[in-house]
Amino acid sequence: MARPRLKPSHVPWILAGSFAVGAAISGILSTITQWHDESPVSRPVFYDMPSALKLLLYTTLPLTIAACGYLYSLRAANWQRGQPDRRSQSAKSIPRRLKAFRQGVYMRTLLRDSAAGLMHSLIYFPFLILFAVTNVLLIDEQMPRSLKFLHGDTYRGYVLVGDIAGVLFLIGIVWALVRRYIQRPYRLKLKTRPEDGVILFTFLLIGLSGFFTEALRIAVADRPAFEKWSIVGYPLSGVFDGWTHLSGWHMASWIVHFGAFLAFLILMPTTKLRHMFTSPVNMYLSDRDRPKGAMKPLPNLMETSLETFGANAVEDFTWKQLLDVDACTVCGRCTSVCPAHATGKPLDPREIVLKVGHVMAATSAGGPISPVVGQDADLTVSADSVFERISAEEIWACTSCKACDEICPVNIEILDKILDMRRYLSLMESNFPTELGNAYRSMENQSNPWGMNQGERADWANGLPDDVPIVDGSGPLGHEYLYWVGCAGSFDDKNKKVTLATAKLLRRAGIDFAILGPSELCTGDPARRSGNEYLFQMLATQNVETLNGMGVQKIITQCPHCFNTLGNEYPQLGGNYEVVHHSQFLEYLLDSGKLQLDGASLEERVVYHDSCYLGRHNDVYMAPRKVIGSLKGIDIVEAPRSGNKGMCCGAGGARMWMEEHTGKKVNTERSQELLATGATRIATACPFCYIMIDDGVKENGRDDVLVQDISMHLLDALERGESSV
Ligand code: SF4
Ligand code: SF4
Repeated sequence: MARPRLKPSHVPWILAGSFAVGAAISGILSTITQWHDESPVSRPVFYDMPSALKLLLYTTLPLTIAACGYLYSLRAANWQRGQPDRRSQSAKSIPRRLKAFRQGVYMRTLLRDSAAGLMHSLIYFPFLILFAVTNVLLIDEQMPRSLKFLHGDTYRGYVLVGDIAGVLFLIGIVWALVRRYIQRPYRLKLKTRPEDGVILFTFLLIGLSGFFTEALRIAVADRPAFEKWSIVGYPLSGVFDGWTHLSGWHMASWIVHFGAFLAFLILMPTTKLRHMFTSPVNMYLSDRDRPKGAMKPLPNLMETSLETFGANAVEDFTWKQLLDVDACTVCGRCTSVCPAHATGKPLDPREIVLKVGHVMAATSAGGPISPVVGQDADLTVSADSVFERISAEEIWACTSCKACDEICPVNIEILDKILDMRRYLSLMESNFPTELGNAYRSMENQSNPWGMNQGERADWANGLPDDVPIVDGSGPLGHEYLYWVGCAGSFDDKNKKVTLATAKLLRRAGIDFAILGPSELCTGDPARRSGNEYLFQMLATQNVETLNGMGVQKIITQCPHCFNTLGNEYPQLGGNYEVVHHSQFLEYLLDSGKLQLDGASLEERVVYHDSCYLGRHNDVYMAPRKVIGSLKGIDIVEAPRSGNKGMCCGAGGARMWMEEHTGKKVNTERSQELLATGATRIATACPFCYIMIDDGVKENGRDDVLVQDISMHLLDALERGESSV
């Protein structure tokens, strides 16, 4: 007989069941034993409460905990609807997982936005302390008289800690209320629902009623001096001097406090508060086998028996992608960094997460359960399809810049979901922008999205004094490096200059390299990012065949999209190479002295524009800065959005081959930001960024600002230095 397997939906039951039984047993035991602390400096747990109230607590609390577990298990049952997603638990991955988990529990990731992070920490940590303080009291209650510890100085310290935590908790709540309802930063203003008010009001009630219950208890006890350590409760108890029916008031306050806590237990699984458990779990599971920049592999589409590809129904997502949506804190940080959203496109990454969550909740096996955020009543879901709530326009507006994933404090993988939905739209419905169809045809017929004659791929080298060796894949490479030029570097007039500059620099450094020329096909990045996996596989398998046939090991490329695809995605097809971006290689050449600058200088103010596929997708931020920073006299300035918060140029995710029909152009917005730094030159390290930023700068009428790739700035400085000698 098959052994019953533990499923995620069982876990909340097991945890909640253990707590509920523990709570019930502690009530029964303390009623039987009646072990009271005889110390004058201590406090009885229920003080002057009638036994009926004690009975109420020890029956409603276990039942509410069980209900909380049940409601969580409904959510976990939904995650089980997803496809497999390997999140290995190996000796190598567990330390990384624990690190991410700790970052979640310690709120390190929230501090990426310091003010919001501090506010959240003021609620979260004191809440945990207050929870622990309550449990310490209950544990002490179970102890035989000889083992009771909550008296004397321990008691004084205990109440002091509790009161300090209570004050900090209330500060955090008030701060949250002010931020959400008075300051109203854009991302909160965009999504404030009644649910947010209910949660904050419940917390406020827990905090205030806690202090009032404490103060009334002290007042009932005639304000003993040792209670002065309750730095809030004691002074507050003075307010009740002369009041009659103090015990009644104490009881009423206690009931409010306890009721608010029960409400919190139900709010947790049914509102965004569920992230208190799901976020740390999601963070623990966030480490994955594939590199950051790699898309999820699909089987060989020519051979697979699968009939549907990409994500449409909830069951098409992986279990991890479904857990993700329940871990969302609805903070909107992803929204605030999205270049598509910022320029008026119909895309909001937070909404993508919430809408998937809405469809998941509405199509649960046992009937609809509470959605991620209280949805408007008119937003209905009648079928198990995320496109009930998400439009194709939203999905196609994404530039795949990964800014949303990078900023998300709980490591939700938003981009993966969008790209999986694109796969569905492209492969299953042929529902893609018409302009993209031209790029697809060009990739199919000419092996490059520019639609240029493949035979002219190496024509850029005509400008070089010596021939560049061209290999054709018919034999071993015979050179140390393969210089992968990429489609833009081969066919786009601006980018041909980047290729020339890079080749000249490689020559100067004495590097032994060759190019593939017409044997180099598009890596397939634009096809894959736009969901056309079929076309990607067609191009990529041919390239892998060529590269493996030549025994290629080391590849240099100036295109971050080629860099990402060759290095991170070709291993999925059996192509394993050491791929370096030209910025990294130039840095190496400069550091090793192979490339001598001989005092070359550039007396210019330069701002570097981060490429998303070099930066966020591959964590290469410093190499391009070091390359241009190695020039004498240069004044490097940073744009307000730089590094991992850099703003996209608008061309990633195959957006290069799509029109921007709505809102402001992304490249215009980014160029204005770069120009505002007062830079006289802009440096790029990606062919698409070069085209987009140069166009944006010209659109802004700033022909006086020179946009160039880092290799061009470097070569320019070198050649000018030499000509002036
Ligand atoms: S990847 Fe970039 S463009 Fe796409 S949703 Fe995320 S932030 Fe927006
Ligand atoms: S996806 Fe992440 S960043 Fe976006 S709202 Fe949810 S928790 Fe915040």
